[in-house]
Amino acid sequence: MPTQKTSHPAAQETAPEANSAHGMFDGVDLQRLAERIPTPFHAYSASAIRQRIGELQAALAGLDATICFAVKANPNLAILQLMANAGVGADIVSAGEMRRSLHAGMPPERIVFSGVGKSADEIAGALAVGIHRFNVESHDELLTLQRLAEAQGVTARAAVRVNPDVDAHTHAKISTGKAENKFGVSIDEARRWFAERGRLSHVQLDGLHVHIGSQILTLEPFRLALQRVAEFWRELEQDGHSINSIDVGGGLGVSYRAGTDQPVSASDYVNVIRTALAGYKGRVLLEPGRYLVAEAGVLLTRVIRVKAGVERQFLVLDAAMNDLQRPSLYDAWHDIVPVSNASRPLTTYDIVGPVCETGDTFARGRELPGCAPGDLLLIKATGAYGTSMASTYNSRPLAIEILLNQGRYAVVRRRQHFEEMIAGEQPARNWETT
Ligand SMILES: *Cc1c(COP(=O)(O)O)cnc(C)c1O
Repeated sequence: MPTQKTSHPAAQETAPEANSAHGMFDGVDLQRLAERIPTPFHAYSASAIRQRIGELQAALAGLDATICFAVKANPNLAILQLMANAGVGADIVSAGEMRRSLHAGMPPERIVFSGVGKSADEIAGALAVGIHRFNVESHDELLTLQRLAEAQGVTARAAVRVNPDVDAHTHAKISTGKAENKFGVSIDEARRWFAERGRLSHVQLDGLHVHIGSQILTLEPFRLALQRVAEFWRELEQDGHSINSIDVGGGLGVSYRAGTDQPVSASDYVNVIRTALAGYKGRVLLEPGRYLVAEAGVLLTRVIRVKAGVERQFLVLDAAMNDLQRPSLYDAWHDIVPVSNASRPLTTYDIVGPVCETGDTFARGRELPGCAPGDLLLIKATGAYGTSMASTYNSRPLAIEILLNQGRYAVVRRRQHFEEMIAGEQPARNWETT
């Protein structure tokens, strides 16, 4: 497990602006770093992550609130350790994410378990280590939780994930809060769960949870969803059901395209929570993923060759869709900038990786200063849903990950060896029958 040096909190104030110049990131010269570390690699700024955590914590001052980082955004152990050291917990969606979070030192009291498809094994494992709360997404899951908690002689704390039927106005593949989505249950169904909660001997159903989607750039969807949740909370309180926890989910958007994306600020976002939940005395849980890490990450890549096609100029990089899937999966935009040589005349490129798929395209028709083989480029805002979605497609090894912190760097994932890639595979030697 990687060791991570945590700076004294007072150092935060003097932390260099993480993004001051393309060539410098968290005080580290990327050009020189790329002379030591072979590309492609992901670099994360610890200062930038701590700054985001600090902004959110400051906005939450006075509230009984816990930030639970959505591990799926970036599950690297060093990132999780950084989160744990900053007092942040985890929102997990699998046994693997649970084990990573515990391994990184997160206390189970700060871990919440979300997801539509928790298996009986995963639920039992989470109960056994005392995971703080289950965000329950179906009646069947609620009954399974009751049965497994009873078998272990423990009481599970649970929140019902409500589907508020709100349009998050984001990409369809990352919208989760509409009635047609697989997530959560309707308020009508949730109401029945509470009406029957006396039957749950080993589940303390005392929470509400909502998460309407990701990369949300306006406050309105949050406001609508939280109004519905708050209305329901007031109704439940009136009916004598005490609600001790309201989990407002994640979804805060970030800037992928400078000058176009206008993310909402942490304080405006938290003010929406404060307004919607006025008078609520219980704990507020937040599950930001992208907001905490996306802009703190960059993917460093070199140009392998410049290829003149019949109609277009292609810039072929040594990074590919297996290192960063978002462009091929969501048609996502990432700003791409040269690390140096910024003064050459602009040229229009299609920027692609070496994988044998047309979808392995980072950008189409993008203007960049003329590039040559070996040039170093920066694909920006790759800290969330970058390595967490990476694969070894085309038998390409998983990329190196580096944590930067105020002029120093530490490798937090070394290059995957070929032997690791094929570990577990074997010739079909031992044939058996069922
Ligand atoms: C993915 C997810 C999050 C985090 O979403 P971001 O957009 O990265 O903030 C939070 N909660 C749940 C339940 C999720 O599935």
